[in-house]
Amino acid sequence: MELLQYAPRRYRDETVYSMAARLVLHDISISMSRSSQNVFQNKNLQLDSALPSFLPLLAEKMQCSCDELLQQHSLFPYYSMFANKRARQRALSTLLRGDSSGAFKALGLLANRLADESHLKYCPMCANNQKFAYGETYWLRAHQLPLVSVCAEHKCKLIRVPRRRKHLLFPEHSKPIDYKFDAVAMKIADISRDLLNSSNFDNGKLLKGYAARLVGRRLATTKSINLSKWFTEMSEYFVSLKAKDERVSQLLSEQSEHGFPANVFYSGNSSHHPIKHVLIITFLFEHFGDFVVNYSNTSTIVDNQNLPELPKQSDIDKAKHNKVKQYLNQNLSLRQIVKRANASAATVRNIAKRQGVQLTSMKRQVDHTTERLITIKLMVGLPTERISLQLGVSISDVEQVLSGQPEIKFLRRRIRNYRKRQQSRDNLLVTIGDLKHLRVKEVKKKCYADYMWLYKNDNAWLFNTLRSHSFPVKI
Ligand SMILES: [Zn+2]
Repeated sequence: MELLQYAPRRYRDETVYSMAARLVLHDISISMSRSSQNVFQNKNLQLDSALPSFLPLLAEKMQCSCDELLQQHSLFPYYSMFANKRARQRALSTLLRGDSSGAFKALGLLANRLADESHLKYCPMCANNQKFAYGETYWLRAHQLPLVSVCAEHKCKLIRVPRRRKHLLFPEHSKPIDYKFDAVAMKIADISRDLLNSSNFDNGKLLKGYAARLVGRRLATTKSINLSKWFTEMSEYFVSLKAKDERVSQLLSEQSEHGFPANVFYSGNSSHHPIKHVLIITFLFEHFGDFVVNYSNTSTIVDNQNLPELPKQSDIDKAKHNKVKQYLNQNLSLRQIVKRANASAATVRNIAKRQGVQLTSMKRQVDHTTERLITIKLMVGLPTERISLQLGVSISDVEQVLSGQPEIKFLRRRIRNYRKRQQSRDNLLVTIGDLKHLRVKEVKKKCYADYMWLYKNDNAWLFNTLRSHSFPVKI
């Protein structure tokens, strides 16, 4: 009898998280971590990461190419859209090697210090349709984009579900539908969805297009851009979004010197977070079509008009330095200055040192007994989230205690390293035990991330183990 093989279901625009969660759910095991181990050979995978590390394995399970997953089911096109070609390619190869945070770094997204989406989101009408058509619900890509709170198709509010790393989550059907939202939210949903489905942008052309529109909107003359007017008008335009989204209020805060929106004109070696571009496009253009036409006609616009001189990066840096100095004089803590001036901790420390100012610690929120308990728990390597839950304090209280203790940070790194080593060794041994053919290629294929970690950090053990299991390893 011929055995037919069916590829697992893959819905249009479904997220990779959704597919991975369904595979894990359908694996009958005693626990989620055991199922995750069975399906992905790793019980600690972060399934809901915006740029997940398990794409090669998932592609194998779904019987499709990695590229299909990346282009049609992941948020990679969105996050890489405004990056330069080299950064995009570096991020892509890093991601395909199973290194999620390396991919964020290559795209310059870590440097932007803008938080990731805290919730998974779904549209109640889409969920009802999915349940009716397929008997199950799944997560859609366009709904997971940052700042998006409305379904562009059904024009209703998305339902938000807090992410839970150790739980598999799916949209619920038959939930109430809410049509109350403002025009800006609808515009962001439309523009973000269209951006996700468009190709990459040439940065130079994009910026010239912004500049030309700024002239058209009288936010710039042919001589210069009126930064304060642009900032004020954008702040007013996004006033309700600022109240709902920490990232937008961080970018458009009155007290801060972020350099936004003008700082998009400077990319240096890193890219700007797509959120910044989405805010600018939403503010400057009527709709996505208006933006695309403007972008396509940029060369004509540039020929016909004298574009304003762009503000210099050194001016923005100078303004940032002045803000840091001002906050130092006001005796604000390091953390407060980092947040308000959008400067790195190292920059603030350097300026403080040059000015001969002693940085003050933030006022302690916890008493001495709790601080002692936090220190003990930090020393045994407990995650900060768990300590905050166990002791009923905020995560920033825990981080505050940790920030003054470099020895504990070092110790925790060693504990984490030791645990990771143990876990990778265990996973490798389990994989070897299940192999039919003793080939290094097979081990690598089945537990790539663990193999690579051991290769880099625990090389002697890895090769001794392979040799002791009679692998043909060259010396
Ligand atoms: Zn919908």
